[in-house]
Amino acid sequence: MTPDPSSPNHPLEAPTPSGISLAPRVPICQSDLPLDWYQEEFKPYAEEYLALPDRTPETVLPWLDSYVEPALNHFGDSLLLLAHYYMGGEIVKLVERYGGGVSDSYVLALQARRNPEKKIIVESAVHFMAETVALLARDDQRVFITNPKAGCTMEMLAKDHMVLPAVDQLQERYGEDLLVIAYMNTAGRIKAIAGSTGGAVCTSSNAHKVVAWARKQNKKILFVPDQHLGRNTAWKLGMDLDKLVTLPDPKSRGAAWTLEEVGLESLDQAEMLLWGSACGVHTIFNAGQVRWWQERGWQTLVHPESPLEVVQAADGVGSTKYLWNAVAEAPKGAKIAIGTEGHFVRNARVEAARRGVEVKHLAEISEPGFSHAGCGCATMSRNDPPHLAGLLDLLRRGEAPDLCEVLAGDVVDEVTGSRDRMDAAERDQLTRDAQLSLERMIEITES
Ligand code: SF4
Repeated sequence: MTPDPSSPNHPLEAPTPSGISLAPRVPICQSDLPLDWYQEEFKPYAEEYLALPDRTPETVLPWLDSYVEPALNHFGDSLLLLAHYYMGGEIVKLVERYGGGVSDSYVLALQARRNPEKKIIVESAVHFMAETVALLARDDQRVFITNPKAGCTMEMLAKDHMVLPAVDQLQERYGEDLLVIAYMNTAGRIKAIAGSTGGAVCTSSNAHKVVAWARKQNKKILFVPDQHLGRNTAWKLGMDLDKLVTLPDPKSRGAAWTLEEVGLESLDQAEMLLWGSACGVHTIFNAGQVRWWQERGWQTLVHPESPLEVVQAADGVGSTKYLWNAVAEAPKGAKIAIGTEGHFVRNARVEAARRGVEVKHLAEISEPGFSHAGCGCATMSRNDPPHLAGLLDLLRRGEAPDLCEVLAGDVVDEVTGSRDRMDAAERDQLTRDAQLSLERMIEITES
């Protein structure tokens, strides 16, 4: 079922018998977590996993199979396994093996809707991705995340208790002229705010279309949460960068700031306001790294969550899909340094090597003065093998922890695991508003 790596088609688009797209094989890249880090229900599985002699696929996959196969036999075709492309190692291999979907956040978000026969959807990804699946799910579909504490560092700095006060202030000043664009990397509560202002969700592949759509309405745009994607999109669209205002750093200021502090005149003149969050995985890159590779004859390609100076210096910029296509279409002998998440680059490297193409991580420079690349998105990797094996086994036995089920509007504290859940009426309203913003994105993207 794994697509031909020499195919020029992006693997995420390669159809499978189930109609769900798959990623190619990736090597194992998964750190062990200490036993006391696991929720009680998962400790027996973690103990078994930690006692395995090694972390090779030959050892780990049979262990995972011993839990996954009974669950698949129990649920049959009604079970759907999903993983984000940034998940590493065994999880991706396993989801591939069992015909699940490995994809980007846009495609994952649509999986419940596109597969109404799937009633139990288990996602290995960060929480906002599972929640987005839940936002578009039917009433008879249940969505689970293998580890609810898998948050996104960018989204953590744009919680509703931070964003809402800012939106309230902006609406007081600009009224219905305020339009919120919520990057996919937000909780449903932020997507609902976008929907209620007439705004839309966007992803890194369609942000330029969504911002262009918003500009045509002559509104004051608030782009949440990634300041880099917002700035890079403005640059791509040829917008006047002096008409961008970056709001106070949410890490240090939270919601404790006023429009007057930011400057009313600059806010009035601004075309787009950027929330001040960022992705820790993509902000390790700098223009010096780009030039280092270029001086040695390498092509440099980066993701638009990277800082503007990196995007401007690079030979190409684009979403995960763009990056994969560029690698897949590169001629034999090409050398490409990629600035994005580490698991993705490892994956691309393995596939490219089969065709005589060299791929490196942009931060993989072992010279003094250059930062070193990490393994990948550490928070997403909290969905490790014991969590997947454990959740599937517990689901089969009818004992799945309630905390693993994801409903629209859920907010989970990534440190404590405590959850704030809305009552049914609030959840219905949130779902309606968030669906509006998602539907607008789908319409803008697919029209
Ligand atoms: S790579 Fe960055 S933006 Fe993506 S899920 Fe991880 S922390 Fe969030």
